[in-house]
Amino acid sequence: MNDVERASAILTIDLDAVAENYRRLSARSGAAECAAMVKANAYGVGIDHVAPAIARAGCHKFFTASLDEAVRLRTLAPEIDIAVLNGVMAGEEETFDRHRLVPVLNDLGQIERWARRGLNDKPRAAIIHLDTGMCRLGLPPDEVDRLADEPARLDGLDLRLVMSHLACAEDPAHAMNEAQRKLFEVQRARLPAAPASLANSAGIFFGAEYHLDMVRPGIALYGSNPLQDAPNPMVEVVRLQSKITQLRDVDSPQTVGYGAAHRVAGPGRIATVPVGYADGYLRSLSGRAFAAIGDTRVPLVGRVSMDLITLDVSTLPPGRAEIGTTVDLIGGPCPIDEVAGWAGSIANEFLTGLGSRYARRYVGEGT
Ligand SMILES: *Cc1c(COP(=O)(O)O)cnc(C)c1O
Repeated sequence: MNDVERASAILTIDLDAVAENYRRLSARSGAAECAAMVKANAYGVGIDHVAPAIARAGCHKFFTASLDEAVRLRTLAPEIDIAVLNGVMAGEEETFDRHRLVPVLNDLGQIERWARRGLNDKPRAAIIHLDTGMCRLGLPPDEVDRLADEPARLDGLDLRLVMSHLACAEDPAHAMNEAQRKLFEVQRARLPAAPASLANSAGIFFGAEYHLDMVRPGIALYGSNPLQDAPNPMVEVVRLQSKITQLRDVDSPQTVGYGAAHRVAGPGRIATVPVGYADGYLRSLSGRAFAAIGDTRVPLVGRVSMDLITLDVSTLPPGRAEIGTTVDLIGGPCPIDEVAGWAGSIANEFLTGLGSRYARRYVGEGT
């Protein structure tokens, strides 16, 4: 038996789908360059496989959150541009140089640190992040004022990009989107001319005014729907499948699982599937989720345990649910966005939380 045959569940990741999503997002972005967000191990999907696939699809610019993610990415792809969202901390400068990484500079201190290095040697490639409403990373308005008043602070930098990040992109009607876009236009006009970037996955669909020179999709590359109330324009990337390992015919009232949280009233069938919260199948799905057998959704009943879930398969005709029958937990009839929603979460959290116990199977070439 190989590891896929031994595993209690299989996570299949379609690299052709990731590449196709990159091309679709790029096509939606007009003349803007399409970068790729591969932070957090490419949203949990697996940076070692995903980054080369996206690069083959034509992507040259990648963003990670942390320095160690960027160093890892450099070993996978020698030719691409890699930017680090967390910026450059004291002591990290040499590592940035050695691996040809570009820091996203988030405050005047980081700008000074990186510019000093450029002044002493040759100008250093840099991205500047302006905070237009997240109160998280990026220069706050008073630091933008100081930078505009003292442009010499940028001497020693080769300014490649000025960027900001939308706080409410998942809600296209939110007034914050336009407010941030306008503030970003005002602020960047006060700095030396440089290419600009504002849109994440959802922002791409707000239209040309949001595209500027570069877009930075993440989650849509991995198959999540960037639109609020419309069919998903992306291709499904992740599929989680397991199989039935136990079947229990119930003929009298009884309870299922921890806390006796589910009560079976009459005759029926309960199927046990060996996936649990230890795998990232969140406990908050207890009593609220569905799985699929073929095209038919069946309800998850009772609590999610560490290693197991229980499904009510009473409605399926005999023969459709047997020991060994395949069960779809994510994908197909159970789209990732819907599963995450049942858990009170979002696809981003669900994907990055998918555990290490699954056998991961990568399919497609990413071309
Ligand atoms: C994560 C991130 C993105 C991508 O956002 P998605 O909603 O996943 O497309 C873009 N820009 C920044 C600064 C980010 O941190």
